[in-house]
Amino acid sequence: MKGTGLFKILIGGLAAYELLGMMKAGNKTVLRPPGAVDEDEFLALCIRCGKCNQACPYDSIKMGKENLGFGIGTPYIDARDNPCRLCDDYPCVNVCPTDALTGINNVYDVEMGLAVIDTKHCIAYQGMRCEVCYRECPLIDEAIKLNIYVKPDDPTHAVFAPIIDPEKCVGCGICEERCVIENPVAIRVKPRVIKGIF
Ligand code: SF4
Ligand code: SF4
Ligand code: SF4
Repeated sequence: MKGTGLFKILIGGLAAYELLGMMKAGNKTVLRPPGAVDEDEFLALCIRCGKCNQACPYDSIKMGKENLGFGIGTPYIDARDNPCRLCDDYPCVNVCPTDALTGINNVYDVEMGLAVIDTKHCIAYQGMRCEVCYRECPLIDEAIKLNIYVKPDDPTHAVFAPIIDPEKCVGCGICEERCVIENPVAIRVKPRVIKGIF
């Protein structure tokens, strides 16, 4: 079946994320901005200056105003609320004075996280046409692809199931913002904590 190899890679990536844990804001999982170094180093380097927050033209970067469990005053992105738009010039990274955000030469260096699909809640996996996350992804047909197959219990219909390639997904969160399913959203970005973990 098309995409079977990708599923195997995804399962490996998921296991790594479960081991690493996640940053939370209340009951939400949040992301570091693009170019963030590994989390321990980030917390040491970030001087909470807010320049990345001010530089973002989309107001995607928020500053933790209370102890959210990942560093008071440090920058984060809540993908469901307002994801990273992957600017061509990454102004947030360019203004960072301490290299807490650094090392973006192309979009694949972003590595904010990995999108994970909840196949129990994704309506595409139940046989309905949707594909919003697929169409909205800036790396369409790279980071997210469609796995098209005949519905097992209904051979007259096809399933158009989105699948994530963990080698290409950069964790921008646009898919999570656009997902049509609520409580719970059917695609979430799990934050990367160590560069290159997937
Ligand atoms: S790349 Fe652009 S949209 Fe994304 S956080 Fe940085 S400034 Fe904001
Ligand atoms: S610009 Fe850099 S040092 Fe300043 S808050 Fe953002 S990540 Fe931290
Ligand atoms: S987080 Fe979603 S929208 Fe962004 S690259 Fe990954 S699959 Fe595409």
